[in-house]
Amino acid sequence: MKKILAAIIALIITTAFVTGLAASYVGNANSKKFHYSDCSFVDKMNPANRVNFNTRDEAVNAGYVPCKRCKP
Ligand SMILES: [Zn+2]
Repeated sequence: MKKILAAIIALIITTAFVTGLAASYVGNANSKKFHYSDCSFVDKMNPANRVNFNTRDEAVNAGYVPCKRCKP
């Protein structure tokens, strides 16, 4: 029984981690725009300007505006 419980907990942690990565938004501290993490602009962004957000609200509340290309 303990093994099953441990497996379930491990699955929940893994799912939460993967979902967290997939749902993340990336802001550019220089342009004050935010993108979906898979937007092509994110690849071109200077890593020093990268700001990670877990939710869209978090990015908007921080004063970031949505990217016109990926429309997050
Ligand atoms: Zn974008």
